[in-house]
Amino acid sequence: MAKMLLISPDICTGCHSCEIACSQEHEGYYVPSKSRVTVYTWEDELVSVPMMCVQCEDAFCQKACPVGAISRDPATGAMVVDHAKCIRCKMCMQACPFGGTAFDPLASRILKCDLCGGDPECVKYCPSGALKYVDASQANIERKRAYAARLKAAVGVK
Ligand code: SF4
Ligand code: SF4
Repeated sequence: MAKMLLISPDICTGCHSCEIACSQEHEGYYVPSKSRVTVYTWEDELVSVPMMCVQCEDAFCQKACPVGAISRDPATGAMVVDHAKCIRCKMCMQACPFGGTAFDPLASRILKCDLCGGDPECVKYCPSGALKYVDASQANIERKRAYAARLKAAVGVK
């Protein structure tokens, strides 16, 4: 069954552990600009939102790539970049509505989440459970439950 990263900003603490784990896994050291996940924090509102590629079923990055360098890993469902084919045109960056791909100018290569081969490091090191890697159907159930809880609170039921 297809799995997906489930993001719950309401319980994200903004600790950046996911960025550290991602960078460490892919680069061997921590540099935030090379992490495939980026945490945005609005300090006045005390809100943090981790953002990364969401592995779209209908992926604009893949459609925009002129040389067929982006394909889906059948084992994990991740959209992955073949760096040997990639010509660094950055059209995938232009096409993604979520900013899911980035460019590393020093290494001259596209950076995007590859789900760590099916065992995402960001999930392992998220202390609050704001990142989970779950079956898509389970993700749907969790979203429904969370929204139901908000409705319950809105109508004042204790
Ligand atoms: S930068 Fe590489 S992966 Fe992205 S669209 Fe261009 S050739 Fe394809
Ligand atoms: S590790 Fe979890 S709690 Fe910390 S910033 Fe990332 S998503 Fe938020």
